[in-house]
Amino acid sequence: MKQDLIPKPRSKFLLVRCKECSNEVIVYSHTTKNIHCKSCNNLLVEKSGGYAIINAEIVKRVDNP
Ligand SMILES: [Zn+2]
Repeated sequence: MKQDLIPKPRSKFLLVRCKECSNEVIVYSHTTKNIHCKSCNNLLVEKSGGYAIINAEIVKRVDNP
């Protein structure tokens, strides 16, 4: 029997892709600072006190960055 019932923490890492230049970067979903694209300086993730505001395309969840 597959055991997949362990609750996962809400905090997680996400692989996001910049909408402007398609640069990909791993970000923390509850980041406490704004994250800009290293390539074009577009604002990718905006801090919000809780779950960050993602201004980029979310590619996938990353459990072990
Ligand atoms: Zn970019």
